[in-house]
Amino acid sequence: MRRGVLPGRFSRCYCFRHRFDGKDTTLHLLYANFLCFYCIIYKKSADTRKKRPKIGRSKIKIRTLHAKSNHNMTTRKRYEKVMEWFAANAPSAESELQYKNAFELLVAVMLSAQWTDKRVNMVTPALLTAYPTAKAMAAATKDDLLHYIRSVSYPNSKAEHLVGMAKKLVSDYGGEVPHSLDELTSLPGVGRKTANVVLAVIWSEPTMAVDTHIFRVSERIGLTTNSKNVLQTETQLTKYIPKELIPKAHHWLLLHGRYVCQARKPKCGECGIISLCRYYQTQPPQM
Ligand code: SF4
Repeated sequence: MRRGVLPGRFSRCYCFRHRFDGKDTTLHLLYANFLCFYCIIYKKSADTRKKRPKIGRSKIKIRTLHAKSNHNMTTRKRYEKVMEWFAANAPSAESELQYKNAFELLVAVMLSAQWTDKRVNMVTPALLTAYPTAKAMAAATKDDLLHYIRSVSYPNSKAEHLVGMAKKLVSDYGGEVPHSLDELTSLPGVGRKTANVVLAVIWSEPTMAVDTHIFRVSERIGLTTNSKNVLQTETQLTKYIPKELIPKAHHWLLLHGRYVCQARKPKCGECGIISLCRYYQTQPPQM
């Protein structure tokens, strides 16, 4: 054991933003709870005190105590508690993409790859007014569609895929969006994630579409362990989440990743599941 290291123990600095744990030195621990070492060095004390999380010091202390007590909870228990929290706090979570039917959602999800829902919602009204059905879109050319979707990412390949998808819908499925994973993924430009979104949102199928947010958030919270790719994440999530909750859980995790548990700097101070989160319990604080 290194000198000055107190395994399994940590305390907070005076400004209450920096946490010191077993990896810190005697000097850090000396300053903890009195004056923050990092605040002194970087002269951040006054600023950070002003920016202290809104939830207040006593609440963070309570949550930290809960976090310690939840450190060894089983995976099943963690799932139960996380799902309970989301069900109570975000009962009406839904897709932020605008659509009126399965075809419109399929188009919107295809356009949303590597792009934000907000930007997609800016181009789909005009595009879907001009081409409201698979039949109308199948009769268009790639250049016709490019005129509407030039501002999204990868416009050329997306326009090509949209025309190809619409043509296959008309030729193989009578212009209707099919209702199975295999059929959906047989369409040009439609991968497993896109198909899972359509199945879950339109038909409430228990399919989990894993995107970058869900992949990251699931691993941080502790819902998945050592997941190497989105397929492993999907398998682990669908194993534990009750079937009837899976379509909703997709939106819960996605929106949590988009607005709270952000990639570069998770907003742990504003997070409601801090006491259930494996990342918060085990990782050093964000400095
Ligand atoms: S506590 Fe922090 S890391 Fe954990 S889920 Fe919340 S924001 Fe993400």
